[in-house]
Amino acid sequence: MPGRSIAIAGCGIAGLAAAALLARAGERVTVFDRVEAPQPIGSGLILQPVGLAVLDAIGMGARIRALGAPIRRLYGRTKPSNRIVLDVRYRALGGGAGEGLGVHRGALFEVLHDAAREAGAETIGGKEIRGAGGGRLIFADGSQSAKSDLVIDALGVRSSLSRKQPLPLLPFGALWCNLDWPQGEAAAIFDANALEQRYEAARKMVGILPVGSVRTGAPRQAAFFWSLKHAELDAWRATPLEAWKDDVRKLWPQAASFIDQIVDREQLIFAAYSHGTRSSPLSGGLAHIGDSWHSASPQLGQGANMALLDALALARSLAVHPAIPDALEAYSRARVGHIRLYQLASWMFTPAYQSDSAAIAWVRDWLMAPVSRVWPAPKILAALVAASIAAPLAAIEAIADG
Ligand SMILES: Cc1cc2nc3c(=O)[nH]c(=O)nc-3n(C[C@H](O)[C@H](O)[C@H](O)COP(=O)(O)OP(=O)(O)OC[C@H]3O[C@@H](n4cnc5c(N)ncnc54)[C@H](O)[C@@H]3O)c2cc1C
Repeated sequence: MPGRSIAIAGCGIAGLAAAALLARAGERVTVFDRVEAPQPIGSGLILQPVGLAVLDAIGMGARIRALGAPIRRLYGRTKPSNRIVLDVRYRALGGGAGEGLGVHRGALFEVLHDAAREAGAETIGGKEIRGAGGGRLIFADGSQSAKSDLVIDALGVRSSLSRKQPLPLLPFGALWCNLDWPQGEAAAIFDANALEQRYEAARKMVGILPVGSVRTGAPRQAAFFWSLKHAELDAWRATPLEAWKDDVRKLWPQAASFIDQIVDREQLIFAAYSHGTRSSPLSGGLAHIGDSWHSASPQLGQGANMALLDALALARSLAVHPAIPDALEAYSRARVGHIRLYQLASWMFTPAYQSDSAAIAWVRDWLMAPVSRVWPAPKILAALVAASIAAPLAAIEAIADG
């Protein structure tokens, strides 16, 4: 029996994961994106054990693990005291609970894109999506997609299908780029399996995340990021690059081997963040997945993982329920609790790492940091970072039980 026809708006992490899973299940999937020829762009991110479980379900777990860098610890020191004020270790979860994987965004894109294509999903680029209705996507040139049994919105944080007004931007964003992992003595300074950060209060933050290779044989790299307010972006552009690099070196002198690789301002991309959650992932017959449902700053590092879990939950729901409305309700039930919890946690944690408030930084350094070392806090924090609180995979497995 031919599968149902499904149109997916957006060829990002959520859209491609859903396309791969649904096409593997026999549905007829078409993915639309504004980008003419979707290609790997961007810096890096951490896949948590739950996100890796979704890649395993897509059949791409081994390939992404071979490219990425295992992450066993997240830690950060504050200046000038040099005290460790963030220290999360996955091993606190106990054996077998897994660890994170730092990945090049391009590697994740390529792996998901190949999975969707190999499963039989069709991708159509150059389509700016303005709206949806009656099972069709409406494009900016006035044309429409063929009628589908279901339209999925995976257009990300600025989705034209999710909100009438775009979400406001958070005051802080960050400059990002990928840099080669240092060789020789310089490499010994860094833990190749840790996300490492330096802070000055919560006003300044620099970080290095190992991300492995973009493809087999390519150099191993790290994602480098520097916290920056929107309001200060123009001033940063007007500052000589060397003066800014001196500032970064002052905060983290040992990171010179990374900072020295930045020779042109164009290497750095400014990423803006927004925080917002739709009360339901369903509207007007559409299913919203990924950032179009819930977006947050990357301080808790969960967005891509949530997008992957949404895709798996939606695909499982459609496999179990022949009637699409029943499947959509099952999808919503399986994900809504986990999403609300993590959106709240992200909203609470973000100012501890990106804000002008000296009081919040003080609380982070003198209350949160000492408490985080006392049992059972290390385990709770590790579970929070690993996205395993509220057992999202068990909730997805339970879809089959109705
Ligand atoms: C700097 C940064 C660091 C991050 N770090 C992490 C991390 O460590 N861990 C983690 O889990 N998450 C992280 N995230 C979050 C993560 O990247 C997002 O949550 C994830 O990309 C969301 O996936 P998505 O598919 O919903 O949206 P996207 O990946 O944004 O994909 C949306 C797609 O829709 C297309 N599109 C949008 N609008 C239109 C339109 N009108 N018409 C046609 N096409 C359109 C876009 O071209 C794009 O291909 C980070 C985010 C940022 C910005």
